[in-house]
Amino acid sequence: MAKTFDYTDGNETITGYNGGDTIQIASGKVDGYCFDGNDLIFAIGDGSLRLVDMKGRAITVKDSSRKKATTKVYGTGYTGQEVIKNLVKAWTKTKLMGIPKLDESIQLCSHFKSIQDVIDHMVADCRAAGDADTFLKKYCGIILNNNDIGAITGWDAGGLRVKTPKNTIPKKTPLEHLDDYTQASFVRNNVTINISSTGDSLTADGKKVFDGLYSWWAEGVLNLIEESYGVKFRTGNEINIALTPSASYWAHTSGNKDVTISLRHTRFKNAEDYQGNGVDKTIAHEFTHIAQALFMGSLPQFLKEGLADLTCGIDRRKTSLIKKVAGDADKLKRYLDLGKSGTGNPNYYAAGFIFYRYLAKQASDAYDSLSSYAWTDNHLTSGTSKADFITKGKAVSISGGKGNDSIISHGAKSALDGGIGNDFIYNGYRYYEPTNYFYNATDDNFRSNLSTIFGDAGNDYISNIGDKVSIDASTGKDFISNGNDYCVGGSCITISGSKLKKST
Ligand SMILES: [Zn+2]
Repeated sequence: MAKTFDYTDGNETITGYNGGDTIQIASGKVDGYCFDGNDLIFAIGDGSLRLVDMKGRAITVKDSSRKKATTKVYGTGYTGQEVIKNLVKAWTKTKLMGIPKLDESIQLCSHFKSIQDVIDHMVADCRAAGDADTFLKKYCGIILNNNDIGAITGWDAGGLRVKTPKNTIPKKTPLEHLDDYTQASFVRNNVTINISSTGDSLTADGKKVFDGLYSWWAEGVLNLIEESYGVKFRTGNEINIALTPSASYWAHTSGNKDVTISLRHTRFKNAEDYQGNGVDKTIAHEFTHIAQALFMGSLPQFLKEGLADLTCGIDRRKTSLIKKVAGDADKLKRYLDLGKSGTGNPNYYAAGFIFYRYLAKQASDAYDSLSSYAWTDNHLTSGTSKADFITKGKAVSISGGKGNDSIISHGAKSALDGGIGNDFIYNGYRYYEPTNYFYNATDDNFRSNLSTIFGDAGNDYISNIGDKVSIDASTGKDFISNGNDYCVGGSCITISGSKLKKST
């Protein structure tokens, strides 16, 4: 039940605010707000109202003058959902693979330096929190006992609305029955949905799954995935859906279009029941795998399955599993395994779900609009003693620091003031791909002029396709590879250093 909190005057504190609740102010209005840790503090006239643990969440306020309620997210201006959208965007655009791809995406959505950096902080925070509830609530924004089921679009993650089991995938239109359950095709959100079934699997429950897909779920789920991750399905995308009567799994996806739903777990209670034990959530999970296969490339198991569970959230469906993983830092660490691919171990699903919500909250909370971030142009990373890495934007620089520094950029004027270590600029194209692949010239400058490494000791390397590249070298083997068959060759290439050797 939604509650109303009344504020009259003085300094008050609210501890139990939940999505859907309202704050009624007796006189005056919210003049401003600030944060104290995770707490949100409203300034109202001469008094204040503290909302415990409500940073980054949508709060509804009714002031005394206008009786109208206003719902607004009070946060840093970068919501958890935007963090995840930026993460996924990096996966859809990158030319990298494996760990470099994951590092790049983390830098493009957050203040963390790498995927391992997120994992290290997360495990340390889990250990410091001491128990599952504190870790989940304080560090991840996951509230298991409220109405929000944990979808990345929901209130707990910084969305405007509480996402419940019913409204997450809405049933907008009346139920419509298919004419033929053995073979049918229909289009939703540009995607051609082909359903087919025969024999044993074409039960009354099987027909319900197909009717539900046809009437609500295909469209609702595709909408939700587009809203959650910023991807857009295109004409030509296709999903084939088959039923199986008794497989032990709930559902299964292979490749980028084949989904099999097991009827063993759908459990429709009676003729009127169209929830089917959350079959719509199962479809959302599987369709997220389709979106991954189409747009995002391969991911370790915890990231792959965690994202599939993030679409609808698993606060209700996997409560005890989430608590087990979140309550044991060593266990959590074990399942945040970058080397483990595949599918099927529920611990990776829960660890992955928690990972995304941790990343979303931490990056949102740490966001500072005045800072220069790695996803913006003119970014400067002050070098650290570790390997620094920038992969986007024009005029990006890494300055100083030991370690193997890299810029894999696609804009002009990249500069790497390298310091000790093997430094690399790969500019403009993905040199190691079997077929050379250029960034889309409409939004990227792949000519990449004016790349510079101010090298120090170590092997420095520029693989570039533009003009005026230079390495101001010191000791070590320095190398410029410039221009190739696929692009305009460079000119004004400079290597300055001792013991130069020319090769043609
Ligand atoms: Zn899955």
